[in-house]
Amino acid sequence: MTETLQTLILGSGPAGYTAAIYAARANLAPVLLTGRQPGGQLTITSEVENYPGFPHGIMGPELMEHMKAQAARFGTVIHDEFGTAVDLKKRPFTVTTEGGTVFRTHTLIVSTGASALYLGLPNEKALQGRGVSACATCDGFFFKNKVVYVVGGGDSACEEANFLTKYASKVNLVVRRDSLRASKIMQDRALKNPKIEVLWNQNVTDVLDVKKGKVTGLELTGTKDGKKQQVPADGLFLAIGHQPNTELFRGVLDMDDKGYLKTVPGKTATNIAGVFAAGDCQDSYYRQAVTAAGSGCMAAIEVERYLEGQGGH
Ligand code: NAP
Repeated sequence: MTETLQTLILGSGPAGYTAAIYAARANLAPVLLTGRQPGGQLTITSEVENYPGFPHGIMGPELMEHMKAQAARFGTVIHDEFGTAVDLKKRPFTVTTEGGTVFRTHTLIVSTGASALYLGLPNEKALQGRGVSACATCDGFFFKNKVVYVVGGGDSACEEANFLTKYASKVNLVVRRDSLRASKIMQDRALKNPKIEVLWNQNVTDVLDVKKGKVTGLELTGTKDGKKQQVPADGLFLAIGHQPNTELFRGVLDMDDKGYLKTVPGKTATNIAGVFAAGDCQDSYYRQAVTAAGSGCMAAIEVERYLEGQGGH
C-alpha cells in the first residue's frame, strides 16, 4: 500500500500525459500507470501530420516519448503497471495493479484510451500474428512484395492501406458500403495510389487457412448480392474502429451502450465526485490526439479545483 496520492492517472496516451504535465505543474505530485500499451495508440501509428506544433509531421512513437519526458520533467512518477481492480466506493479510492501494488488516491483520472476492433471471425483470432493484424505500422514490414487486404473505410483504413503500399505488391481495401467514411484528403491519397484497389460493397467473412498456420486467402461476401468468393491473400489488416478500454469500470462508472465513460457535458467529471475521465475512453466522436490531450488538461484542472474545494489534502 502506498501513501495516499493527490491524483492517480491511468493511461499513458496524450490524455494521460497531458493530465500529468498539468497536475505536476500544479504541485499535485501525480503518479501515472502506463497500462499495457505504454504511449497508447500513437505508438502503433506512423506519421502524425495533424498534431499542432509539428509542421513537418512527427512519428507517433516519438511524439509520445516527448510527452512522457515532459510529464517526467515536472516530477510525474511513471509506473509500467496495469490497473486490474478499483474501489471507488470508499475514500480514498484504491487501484490495485496486475503486479499487486495498491495505490490509494484522493482523485483519479481515467485516460485508458481505446483498442482496435476485430471482425469477430473464429479464424481471424486463430491467425492473429500469423498474417492477421490491426496495426500496419507494427507488421507492414513482414509483407514485402505480398498481397494484403485492409478492412474498413475510415481514415485509419486509408492510412494503413497507403502505408502498406511501401511494402506490399498489392493492397486491396475492403469496404462494406459504396463510399468511404474517411476525410477527403485521406480518401484522395488512397484512391490515387496505383497499388491500392478498392473492393466496394464487400465483407470479409472468413480467413484461410488455419491448418497451414498462416493467412493464405480470404472469403469475401458481397454486402448487396450475397455472392461469396475466395481470394488468395498473404495478410489481413483490420481498421474498423476501436472500443474503449473501460472494462475495469463496468458497473462502477456511468458509461454508454458502447462502453464510453459518461462525463458531465463540457467537463471531464464522471458520476463519482473526484473521478475524472479524459481522452478516447470517454470520446466516441472526435478521437484525436489533440482532443485527447485537451481533455487531459481539463481533467487535471478539474482535479485541482476539486481538491481545493475539499480544503486540499
Ligand atoms: P471510423 O472512422 O469509425 O471508421 C471505421 C470504418 O470501419 C468505417 O468505414 C466502417 O464502415 C468500417 N467498419 C466498422 N465495422 C466494420 C465491420 N464489422 N466490417 C467492415 N467494416 C467495418 O474509425 P477509424 O478509421 O479508426 O477512425 C477513428 C477516428 O480517428 C476518426 O475520427 C478519424 O478521423 C481519426 N483518424 C484520423 C487519422 C488522420 O487524420 N491521420 C488517421 C486515423 C484515424 P462504415 O463507414 O460503413 O460505418
